[in-house]
Amino acid sequence: MEREMLREMLLTEQAELQKRVDAIGKDFSGRTISKQFDEQVVERENDEVLRELEAEAKEELQAIDVALRRIETDQFDRCRKCGETIADERLKAIPHATTCRNCAT
Ligand SMILES: [Zn+2]
Repeated sequence: MEREMLREMLLTEQAELQKRVDAIGKDFSGRTISKQFDEQVVERENDEVLRELEAEAKEELQAIDVALRRIETDQFDRCRKCGETIADERLKAIPHATTCRNCAT
């Protein structure tokens, strides 16, 4: 994997996740209070799903930060567990991966 190509993919992934987090934040702040009790229940369930999605997105953003820092070193495509090169296909699927397929499972 070429460094610049991976950086490009990480930045794309980062921008998309940031957009998702922003959209979730807007959804929460633009909320009007429902009058019906059953609507409130549905809304609370939706909120839980949204919060989970938000938490996931934020975790991924952190992983991308780590990967972007790794990219500044020559170790950017090395598995942080076994030291093997992480396969291109894996980095294309998960640009922020820091372990090879063997170590991830
Ligand atoms: Zn490994």
